[in-house]
Amino acid sequence: MRLTVIGSGDAANALGRGHSCYWLEEVGRRAVMVDFGATALAGLQRFGRSPLELAGIVFTHLHGDHIGGFPFLYIDAMFTCLRSEPLRVLGPVGVEARLRELLRVTYGSLAERATPFAWELTELRPGEEVEFCGLKVRGFAADHQEPPEQPLCLRVREPSGTTVAFSGDTAPCDGLLQAAADVDLLVAECTGMKPPFGRHHTWEDWQRLLPTLSAKRVLFSHLGREVRARVAELLAEANDPRVQFADDGLQLIV
Ligand SMILES: [Zn+2]
Repeated sequence: MRLTVIGSGDAANALGRGHSCYWLEEVGRRAVMVDFGATALAGLQRFGRSPLELAGIVFTHLHGDHIGGFPFLYIDAMFTCLRSEPLRVLGPVGVEARLRELLRVTYGSLAERATPFAWELTELRPGEEVEFCGLKVRGFAADHQEPPEQPLCLRVREPSGTTVAFSGDTAPCDGLLQAAADVDLLVAECTGMKPPFGRHHTWEDWQRLLPTLSAKRVLFSHLGREVRARVAELLAEANDPRVQFADDGLQLIV
């Protein structure tokens, strides 16, 4: 599987990076993205990816820096790239209502207009695994929002057996450790340097957790300003060959 980092920044686009989102592709299968924040469409164009190559999107949770680009993808599909293939969407409980609301807020009555493509929405609850665009996707409970929101950590498995986990946004929690167990790659948020930092992971958390992780590789992303500014120093501090820090446009073969 080839993973392209379309965005690697936090909600505030620290140091000019796009909102964190990822493009997953393998030979013979159409691409799937994990998350689609407000800057995602610009990122696809910047890195030479067409939304028409996209079979579906998996959302980790329903915050704006993870779903905010959906209206632009929708408008692009209707009026620019003229999509006819279905677009599949998988996300936490409430994903359909939230995306429809987002479309209404941003484009008013256009949100009600019939589209020349079908969009198919499926909810994923913690503990469930579904088949999605040729992948198996399992959800785990993240610790990032209050109920009724059910934010997710994800574990994605392709037919060859390669597994990639995505933390989404979360404070340290069992769900993330379960999602990340023995995976080929963990894409993990590292938003701040040390707690308290909302319900997010910090570098201090990862210093404690890294030695306990069984993931074969770890890619830190969703980097806040201070973390981004100190990447070289933190890499030396981690002294762990499994570790990399994400930047926009980075590609990994997993
Ligand atoms: Zn969030």
